[in-house]
Amino acid sequence: MIYADYAAAAPISDRVYDVLCRTSRDTFGNPSSAHSFGRTAAAAVDRAREQTAALLGCEPDEVYFTSGGTESDNHAVRFAAGRGLLTSAIEHPAVLRSAEAYAAQVRLVSPEASGAVPAERVRELLAIHPDTALVSLMYANNETGVIQPVRDAADAAHAAGALVHCDAVQGVGHVMPTVRELGCDLLSVSGHKFHAPKGIGALYIRKEVTRKIAPFHYGGGQERGLRSGTLPVPLIAAFGEACAEALERRADDDRRVCALRDRIAAELLEIPDSVRIGGGETMPGILNIAFAGTYGENLMLLCDLRGVCLSTGSACHAGDDTPSHVLAAMGVPEEFLTSSIRISIGRYTTEEDAGRISETVRDCVRLARG
Ligand code: PLP
Repeated sequence: MIYADYAAAAPISDRVYDVLCRTSRDTFGNPSSAHSFGRTAAAAVDRAREQTAALLGCEPDEVYFTSGGTESDNHAVRFAAGRGLLTSAIEHPAVLRSAEAYAAQVRLVSPEASGAVPAERVRELLAIHPDTALVSLMYANNETGVIQPVRDAADAAHAAGALVHCDAVQGVGHVMPTVRELGCDLLSVSGHKFHAPKGIGALYIRKEVTRKIAPFHYGGGQERGLRSGTLPVPLIAAFGEACAEALERRADDDRRVCALRDRIAAELLEIPDSVRIGGGETMPGILNIAFAGTYGENLMLLCDLRGVCLSTGSACHAGDDTPSHVLAAMGVPEEFLTSSIRISIGRYTTEEDAGRISETVRDCVRLARG
């Protein structure tokens, strides 16, 4: 079987798996305990916090461990509770649904046909709506891979007195700007997108704004009082190791994966009536491509039967055949809206896998078109 769904979940790395197993067995003390076992566990957490900070380009005490991207997004968006929130129409549901739940007013910026959200539009809307408390813009879209103008939006937001959140779940682990370069106040991270286990992530909170952020929940005061609850030391240690490994490997991995992705794209675009969805700067491993006269869900199932696992849009849409809100917002024409698949490859994808992916998708498109 060939795995081409890295944007849904990336395989855990051997190095991360070793840390996860070793820490689960040996580092069982509660990091809040003052005795030796507790201090050993606390040291593992401190180390992971430093590894995370090194990857994000922030201070260790600006890192708050969470259960993953969804929790981080929910918490960041909650800053706009009862106030105005400006976000894009192509955000992940973790941002869009929490925006609906918490904010008093939600203003959505539509993307251009390329899949990029225009920063000028963010600036215009901020001028019309001075009550905006938070601007939330993702780093890279999970369905198209298109990288968003976070820095420009952040400058506009700060000039208007709003804070900035960035859902960087698809970006972290790859070559991307630091949190300082992005200019954001809050940034969401998810471990399982870059070879750490599921159920662990982080929220970066810029030190200067910490006092404005309410606790995630209340209890024993862990995570400097913002996120109470006994820390999952093995998951945190594994997450830290994934950050360290990504920092070492990401430039080489991205370069190699980008070349494989471009090869697959070129081979598949030779198929008549195919189109690549999303343009401009994109994440190295994500390819969204549509084939008129097919149905994405059907292609995905046919490819699975032939040993290639890919997806239609995001994994959150699995089993849900309403067209992707991202593609719809981009104005993708009807014949491509329901016929798109997302191929997402990564660190362990080989040349041979790339060849098999192209070949299998080509065969399945032919079959689906009858
Ligand atoms: N944000 C984006 C852009 C994502 O792609 C995902 C997951 O697919 C999430 C948030 C949710 O992250 P998690 O699965 O860690 O809750």
